[in-house]
Amino acid sequence: MYFPTSNLNIQNYEIDLQFSADNAYNYTEDQLDIGFRIPGTQERVDCANYFITKFLEIDSNFTYALHNFTVYSTDCQNVLFKLNENKSNIVILGAHYDSRARATKDLTNTSAPVPGANDGASGSAILIELARNFYIMSENLSCQIWFVFFDAEDQGYDLGPGITGWGWCEGSQKFVSEINNFYDSETENFECMILLDMVGGENLKFINEQHSTSSLLDELFAIGRSLGYTDEFPINPISGEIVDDHVAFVNFGIPSADLIIKFWNRNPDWPYHHTTKDNLTYIAKESLETTGKTVEQFIYNNYIDDQNNIYQGNYPWNQDKSLLNLDVVIIITIIIVIAGISIIILIPTTEVTKKNELLDYNII
Ligand SMILES: [Zn+2]
Repeated sequence: MYFPTSNLNIQNYEIDLQFSADNAYNYTEDQLDIGFRIPGTQERVDCANYFITKFLEIDSNFTYALHNFTVYSTDCQNVLFKLNENKSNIVILGAHYDSRARATKDLTNTSAPVPGANDGASGSAILIELARNFYIMSENLSCQIWFVFFDAEDQGYDLGPGITGWGWCEGSQKFVSEINNFYDSETENFECMILLDMVGGENLKFINEQHSTSSLLDELFAIGRSLGYTDEFPINPISGEIVDDHVAFVNFGIPSADLIIKFWNRNPDWPYHHTTKDNLTYIAKESLETTGKTVEQFIYNNYIDDQNNIYQGNYPWNQDKSLLNLDVVIIITIIIVIAGISIIILIPTTEVTKKNELLDYNII
């Protein structure tokens, strides 16, 4: 099994992290107060406008772009905010903001909508709070940062459809397919993408998500653990492959990591996924803080403009150990097969030897 923190010795850039869990909680609550943010509804539009309002509160000139697209002729919209546009290397921070139209895993009410406090609102809230903090530090940062709020992530089939016929992650796929409209590929380049999905629930415990670029996820785990979040970033995390908004970015060639929990099947770490109970009751401020401060520290470690910063992480995250793991599995299998064949050959030989010894003894 692959241990994410095995090789990386983190020495964080020394700085007081300012991420406020109270703010992030309030931003989560604000989104729930808007209502169900289902694609094609006024509440979804209101939520996009809420993000714009919050970013313009940070700076009335905050650059943003609306990415309009349709899914089966329903109007959808990703919302992109850009900090430090004068920097050519871009870090993408993302979350989905749509909430699921049907609580298909609910025990009693599968046709009711999901409130989406954790599944949607928590990651989006953390993006707002990170933007507020990085804006204050923006002149000391050597990168451009994108904050992307994806629509139409959460309507795929999970025991039943969210919206009939829709796939997962429609918004991020559309965004990446048209990403050339949002940056200049001649002069700008992408550093990495970090996705936050279900990051504010009680009992936070991140998984080793297998589509993620392992060296990037590895570094986030190491930073989280170095900040004392050892339960949340366990040394031997559960592995899982999640179809999520980072996959389109991975396929585009950008190192990407999905911070997400075990939400599936039996014994989930957070049991309210795609139910009507995904509400504020099961949100924990500590979880919002854990996620927020880990990403905050990640950005300062890698992008603070300070001659004295000697940070050595896994930059530029061009290593993905998943393939290596597969190789190791194949090699171990071959060794086991060879060892097995050897034992089969050796056992009869040994028996023959013993019989001969016995014969010899009898003769004597
Ligand atoms: Zn979901």
